[in-house]
Amino acid sequence: MTDDINSTGYDIPPELQSQVAITTLDKIYNWGRRSSLWPMMFGLACCAIEMICTVASRFDFSRFGMEIMRPTPRQSDVMIVSGTVTKKMIPQIVRLYNQMPEPKYVVAMGACASGGGPFKEGYNVVSGVDKFVPVDVYIPGCPPTPQALLNGLISLQKKIDTQSIKSVRWYGKEPIEPIPVPILGPDIMDPREYAEIKKYTQEKLARQQAERIEDAEPVERKSAA
Ligand code: SF4
Repeated sequence: MTDDINSTGYDIPPELQSQVAITTLDKIYNWGRRSSLWPMMFGLACCAIEMICTVASRFDFSRFGMEIMRPTPRQSDVMIVSGTVTKKMIPQIVRLYNQMPEPKYVVAMGACASGGGPFKEGYNVVSGVDKFVPVDVYIPGCPPTPQALLNGLISLQKKIDTQSIKSVRWYGKEPIEPIPVPILGPDIMDPREYAEIKKYTQEKLARQQAERIEDAEPVERKSAA
């Protein structure tokens, strides 16, 4: 353990090296978080089968500190989005993300979660979960193998190693606003884009009205003659 957190440049006597560590606050803080990442237990499609394999005995990601998959977002640190993100599902994903406490991380597992995958142009599919929640690590593949998921999770640990307690968002002065939950109607609507949608709809209606007046004018003139 001391090897993981020791800062270089200190001459610790060999007999004490397994008991004494000289380190920084950032290092020990990051080490604590990266060594106890608890993933949330949910899967969306075929990629989830590979995720289940990664948890099981052959690959066993508890070796990396991901000991328990939590069945509630309130006890989870990492959301593994494993599978196709449909428009029907994205409001639930955003709600679960909002319910996770900080610090929290998101892993997009596979082509579907990263960009829509083979269903990218589908009428019911969101082309990438990062359109709604911030993604920390993308794992390519359809589906990614358990080894690829492990590699993605190790990459996430490396990313955590570079964070500093001075700049992490959860200790910032500003409160962290939850992500507005998208609304599922005839299509999915992101509340953050309301102003843009309103402007587009108003312009479209004005265009249609102008076209209707243009079409109606010759008929009116004809009937007046
Ligand atoms: S990336 Fe491939 S394996 Fe994963 S959910 Fe999509 S279609 Fe299924």
